[in-house]
Amino acid sequence: MNPPQSRPLWVGVSWKMNKTLADADRFVDSLAGFTVPSGIQPFVLPPHTALARVRDRLPADSPVLLGAQNAHWAEEGSWTGEISMRMAKDAGATIVEIGHSERREHFGESDRTVALKVAAAITNDLTPMICVGEPAAVRAADGAEDFVGAQLRIAMSGLRRAEIDRVIIAYEPVWAIGDRGTPATVEQSAPVMAAIHDVVAGLGGSPLAVLYGGSVGADNAVELLSDPNTDGLFVGRAAWEAAGFIELLKLCAPLAGKNPPRQPYPEPLPWLSAASLYEEH
Ligand code: PEP
Repeated sequence: MNPPQSRPLWVGVSWKMNKTLADADRFVDSLAGFTVPSGIQPFVLPPHTALARVRDRLPADSPVLLGAQNAHWAEEGSWTGEISMRMAKDAGATIVEIGHSERREHFGESDRTVALKVAAAITNDLTPMICVGEPAAVRAADGAEDFVGAQLRIAMSGLRRAEIDRVIIAYEPVWAIGDRGTPATVEQSAPVMAAIHDVVAGLGGSPLAVLYGGSVGADNAVELLSDPNTDGLFVGRAAWEAAGFIELLKLCAPLAGKNPPRQPYPEPLPWLSAASLYEEH
């Protein structure tokens, strides 16, 4: 096997609670007309209602990975309003976002439920994207690294060592998210990204990717990616329209390949298909 010279740069968007099926179709059709630059791994997290629709509308050879914004830890049962990991996967997800700060704040998501969901995602051959991040008061008290480290240790407490290599981590400071957020500077994000890598290394693993999220846009994407520990960006508002997402993909393209390989990637290259990410597991 010829090892790749670099690891992919991940650029993804969560649509959050936005888009009808017609809106989703328009986004997908615009994105499908764009050639994703080599070395970029795009992903889209539609609402559950649009997941299968997006999967079916994307061209079969699209490099875009799909994910769910949340899923329950139980295999099935009386959990009104929830979907299981298996259902998310059946609808087209290969990634599942877990523990976004809006779910922690508004829907009672705790470090414990995050850990249950991370383990359930792995059991169901989904890639958990674990969201961590400190509130403003913790940042003001210089506690960001410790806070995020503790969140991560609990989130991964149900995993075996080899399984740690299958997670994506999204560092999203609570104070940076959404229209009332202030984007982090790279001086603020980089020490936490380094701490995340240290925590995971201390657990004996190496994450698939560590992403930054929180008010990312065309004006700060390149700066945030100048940190060598930042493997990509997780975006909300700035990429809700396809044009915004495509603009970010283009902006990030020259930075693809900036980071040397951290762990072997499965053949065949390029790494841009869901199947290639999972076939080794
Ligand atoms: C998010 O909430 O995960 C996010 C990245 O949102 P935004 O980019 O809109 O701050």
